[in-house]
Amino acid sequence: MRDLHVFSIPLRTRFRGITVREGVLLRGPAGWGEFSPFLEYDDATSRPWLACARESADEGWPEPVRDLVPVNVTVPATDPERAHAVVAAGGCRTAKVKVAERGQTLADDVARVEAVRDALGPDGLVRVDANGGWDVDEAVRAIAAIDRAAGGLEYVEQPVMAVEDLALLRRRVDVPVAADESIRRAEDPYRVRDLEAADIAVLKVQPLGGVRACLRIAEDIGLPVVVSSAIESSVGIAAGVALAAALPELHHACGLATVQMLTDDVAVEPMLPVDGMLRVARPDVDDEALARLAAPADRADHWRARLASVGQDRPT
Ligand SMILES: [Mg+2]
Repeated sequence: MRDLHVFSIPLRTRFRGITVREGVLLRGPAGWGEFSPFLEYDDATSRPWLACARESADEGWPEPVRDLVPVNVTVPATDPERAHAVVAAGGCRTAKVKVAERGQTLADDVARVEAVRDALGPDGLVRVDANGGWDVDEAVRAIAAIDRAAGGLEYVEQPVMAVEDLALLRRRVDVPVAADESIRRAEDPYRVRDLEAADIAVLKVQPLGGVRACLRIAEDIGLPVVVSSAIESSVGIAAGVALAAALPELHHACGLATVQMLTDDVAVEPMLPVDGMLRVARPDVDDEALARLAAPADRADHWRARLASVGQDRPT
């Protein structure tokens, strides 16, 4: 039986409808791996997440080609004053601003992006993430207005939800388009490529089956990659950093500065950015933290059963 811990860490703010991030940490000959598929995911969807954890624990990762990975600060769909403060405190040269939030207006997005530009200064990069919140016509209008407010956007992430709409929209705007929600399963990046639906691919190591799987995808699709997280603990984030560190080319800051979204962490030295950079490292797991963050017995049972079910095609 491998060394296995079920963790439960409260989030600072609700995300995807959850307030606690749960998952399994497993230790193998190469180190720790994290298995933390979202609760609604079935066994088939969760299988690549387990492959990623096993790669981390059993094989380790390919050699890095860089020591530091630039990351973005994420600005929630908040008021301009708060947005300004988040960027000023973040210490990053790139800001990702959430837009197209339900219940808000384009004027809210414009005001937020203006505040972010002001906080970053003229040399910083502003990208926005609409999480698929616009239709194609709305997106054309909104992107023009927000691009003006930003003094030029680095890119717009998932402006519309359907990959076919992404492809249509991309032909109507000058701002580069990144695909995030359109890439969730192993076959998705190829569909984005074949439809020429995006200029940039957002890749996440757990849903796509690990660092090596993502390196193969990046090579196959021939698009610049932004490595992003699934809001993991530092153990899971380290796998994303390993991918970003091993990519032959890295043109954009990554979305891996998300450990601060959690109220606590399992690592002795959490994977938090310094001067907008994450150091390429394998964090040591803290025994005290494992005890402090251990899931309640019923949740631990749930995760052990889930791990067994997802992994039953191969012995763990
Ligand atoms: Mg996104």
